[in-house]
Amino acid sequence: WELWNRDTLDKAKALLQSQNTPFRLENFVNGAHISESAVEYIDSVDPKTGLVFCKVPCTQPEDIDAAIHSAKAAFPAWSKTTRAERSALLRRVAELIKKHRELFAAWESIDQGKTLERARVEVDRAIANFLYFSTFILHQKTAARMIDEDAALTYEHRSPAGVFALISPWNMPLYLLTWKIAPCLAFGCTAVAKPSEVTSVTAFLLSSIFNKAGIPKGVINIVFGDGPTTGAALVTSPLISGVSFTGGTATGIAIRRATAHQIGKHLSLELGGKNPTLVFADAYRDSIEQECTVRTAAMAAFQNQGEICLCGSRIYVENTIYDQFVCDFIAHVNETFVIGRTVGAVASRAHYDKIRGYLRLAEQQGAVFKLGGVPKELGAREGYWIAPVVLTDVLPSSRVMKDEIFGPVVTISRFYSEGEAIRLANDSEYGLAAVVLTSDGARMRSVSEQLEAGMVWVNSWLQRELGTPFGGMKASGTGREGGEYSRDVFTVVRTVHLPAYW
Ligand code: NAD
Repeated sequence: WELWNRDTLDKAKALLQSQNTPFRLENFVNGAHISESAVEYIDSVDPKTGLVFCKVPCTQPEDIDAAIHSAKAAFPAWSKTTRAERSALLRRVAELIKKHRELFAAWESIDQGKTLERARVEVDRAIANFLYFSTFILHQKTAARMIDEDAALTYEHRSPAGVFALISPWNMPLYLLTWKIAPCLAFGCTAVAKPSEVTSVTAFLLSSIFNKAGIPKGVINIVFGDGPTTGAALVTSPLISGVSFTGGTATGIAIRRATAHQIGKHLSLELGGKNPTLVFADAYRDSIEQECTVRTAAMAAFQNQGEICLCGSRIYVENTIYDQFVCDFIAHVNETFVIGRTVGAVASRAHYDKIRGYLRLAEQQGAVFKLGGVPKELGAREGYWIAPVVLTDVLPSSRVMKDEIFGPVVTISRFYSEGEAIRLANDSEYGLAAVVLTSDGARMRSVSEQLEAGMVWVNSWLQRELGTPFGGMKASGTGREGGEYSRDVFTVVRTVHLPAYW
């Protein structure tokens, strides 16, 4: 509980230095924090120093059941609350996060490795998630239609779908967890949420404000633990009506497989990406355009150390400007993305080693490191710092080009025609996002509409209105979330037919 008094990064760091033993997180079940019979705790490490600062319980299946039953018991009453009541409660959650903005940002930065500035942006987006859905539900419309011949009335009736498992990854912990909790509660469902075992601290802080906000007991439960033990038990429970999952494609496949026999269980899977950025020569007509183009491509590649599912990690540049672009890009990245200032540490030791493995492979296969290099092998107590890496001459068939590395690594390759650019962009098992940099109005549409990507940004990146459909094609997922698309995830729909005469 000392965490609540440490609402700035400096105070939080002082707590970390003063403590001899890492603090332990507790599950939040039926409105109370409880120590579970966890036989194991998972070390949570400060990625900037490599020090263990927190212990995350690995919740066992029997303890998960208590959380699921609590959500199940709370469902009947919560699903009958009015939209106005739920809206007011969600607004209160948003206000409380806002009140403790610095606390959330400081601990997100410590736990995940991201910069404090980036953490603040994500806390603001978590607040926006609650505000958006608290407003959205007040303006829902029901579709009703008359059947011509006999004036019978047919209408669409929606009701909350039940108890949800909400599972999130480690790259934007608070933001992505609230992207699920806010709509789930707004549409009248109850939930058991599980953040990533790598970054659980802000979920714990969040759990501490639900009672203060007046959310009834059991409506939202937060449990901690790893995927194979805790996550798997949660998603497969027959009491769970649906799963909203964000994470890697391999895990999405495992969840789909494990729940395949539960036909009615709704799955929303937001998975990985290997996103292309296309740079056309017409985006490079004068110095202002050049600067915008380079800035957008670099931001898309290296924001949050490349640890955003939407990051553009494959850049394709039209041949006529290729050499100039590479030169400008490297100068810009060198100047803008500075380790420790605008670039944080990568999230975990395992992730550091994974990125290092890909960079060693790139080296062995003869890729050219235009910037950065293979990071050193890490000792036991060191921070997980990787400076931005820019690679050229990477084979299209190489795993470096095909796999999601999810770190500060970008490849730059050439194309000779618009058709080839589209073909290269689509040459991926993934289909999450893409960026098109061009000044040609016709091309903006024609290229965007041919890309196999759930989201395409033209001359921009990452801007989003929360009502737009969010999700990927191909191996990047199934289903969409956002606005009415989230309503489709968290509600069931039935058609009711009333006869004209009775
Ligand atoms: P991950 O799949 O390893 O883990 C995600 C979550 O799933 C964690 O909470 C984990 O404990 C849990 N989990 C693992 N195995 C499970 C199982 N068998 N059953 C149930 N839960 C299980 O992913 P990660 O490494 O934490 O995150 C990185 C990945 O997330 C990247 O692939 C990235 O692209 C993706 N991501 C996607 C989006 C999106 O919106 N599409 C957003 C952010 C991150």
